[in-house]
Amino acid sequence: MTTTLAPSFELNFDVLPPEIQKFKETVREFAQDVVLPRAQELDQAPAADFDWELVKQGHALGLTRVAVPKQYGGLGLGMLGIAVAMEQVAAACPGTALVFGATMLGQTPILYSGDPQLQARYLPMFAGDEPVLACNAVTEDAAGCDLIIPENARHAVDVMSARRDGDHYVLNGRKKFITNARFAAFASVFANMEGHEGATGLTSFIVDLDQPGVSRGPVADKMGYRACLGSELTFENVIVPVENVIGGELNGMAINIAQSNMARASVAGISTGVAQGAMDKALNWCGERVQGGQLLYKHQFSAQKIAEMAAKIDAARMLYLYAANKVDNQLPAPSTSPQWPSSSPTAWRSRSPTPRCRSSARALPARLRRGEDAARLLRRPHLRGHPGGAGAGDHGLPLPGR
Ligand SMILES: Cc1cc2nc3c(=O)[nH]c(=O)nc-3n(C[C@H](O)[C@H](O)[C@H](O)COP(=O)(O)OP(=O)(O)OC[C@H]3O[C@@H](n4cnc5c(N)ncnc54)[C@H](O)[C@@H]3O)c2cc1C
Repeated sequence: MTTTLAPSFELNFDVLPPEIQKFKETVREFAQDVVLPRAQELDQAPAADFDWELVKQGHALGLTRVAVPKQYGGLGLGMLGIAVAMEQVAAACPGTALVFGATMLGQTPILYSGDPQLQARYLPMFAGDEPVLACNAVTEDAAGCDLIIPENARHAVDVMSARRDGDHYVLNGRKKFITNARFAAFASVFANMEGHEGATGLTSFIVDLDQPGVSRGPVADKMGYRACLGSELTFENVIVPVENVIGGELNGMAINIAQSNMARASVAGISTGVAQGAMDKALNWCGERVQGGQLLYKHQFSAQKIAEMAAKIDAARMLYLYAANKVDNQLPAPSTSPQWPSSSPTAWRSRSPTPRCRSSARALPARLRRGEDAARLLRRPHLRGHPGGAGAGDHGLPLPGR
């Protein structure tokens, strides 16, 4: 007699939703056939060299608009689609993956703003025949983590400034290491409102980069990720309309944290891809190289190394799929990460129509300064609101691209 211990429930990380599985295969083909043969040359080229042809081909597949909702011409595949695609491209060339990843990061505040006007203005441009890139501008010369970690904020020095002047803001300052800044159409920029200590008045803006007062460059000469260009962005009296503020004045730190948390799933996809690319190479070598009269993989130590790599990569892949799925479905944070994406949409939605939402959102930076937990604050239901933007889900939370 045979017995089964459990009914046939299925929990299968190998089976992606069909649309994402198909996209993964398309991107893999592009990565292996087109990107991989160019990877070494791209990494050895002068710092300012950029392969637009490669970007054009990636754009044709949709890599510049993976999470952009279908109504704006995007693929509508959410963070899961982004992370899966990033793994495939990064296995061939992580720098090329970051060209597309940074573009998606630049789009993120607009996607999560829940603001249909901003979405209609800034998202359709990614669906044209020619590739358009975006970027996310946080880092500065003196302030790196000080613009990301709430308890660091009051120590930040020389932070880019913003001043309200009637129906617009005036931005002054310089950003550094900004991936895609050389070519991007717009940037998601974080600047500190004048009169606020350090970075305690951080505010998030969408800034058109082809306008007077913006200058791009020089390009940083990096040790890796050379296929994407990281450059300075300088802002001299740059005018930004009030409607381009994301999440309301003084909420930049919360938005920055939320955005970074969301990006982690795709960055983990890139890291998994790098590891997979390395393992593919090691595996090939073990199947070619003969020592002691036999191929390397027949030596127990080499075989064990490969098996360990495979197990770690599988674990990393499962973790990023799990994380991306949580971002897309607003599921609760895993206990291992106190600042998790499920908290984020509430922050974006502080642009709420209700006064209570707006005032609570305004209070956030002060509460963060007092050391309250960012994730817990941002999860509070009264910070939610603003139905209407593409991706707004059943619970009043945005589900990008679904
Ligand atoms: C390939 C690449 C692409 C990039 N692209 C972009 C981009 O597109 N846009 C952008 O804005 N930036 C970009 N950056 C910059 C990157 O985001 C910054 O390097 C990062 O924010 C950290 O800043 P920093 O390098 O100045 O480190 P620092 O802020 O100087 O930090 C140095 C170390 O101190 C630690 N530290 C700081 N504060 C604390 C604390 N309170 N507690 C414990 N440890 C602490 C940090 O963890 C870190 O290990 C890119 C960087 C790279 C390498």
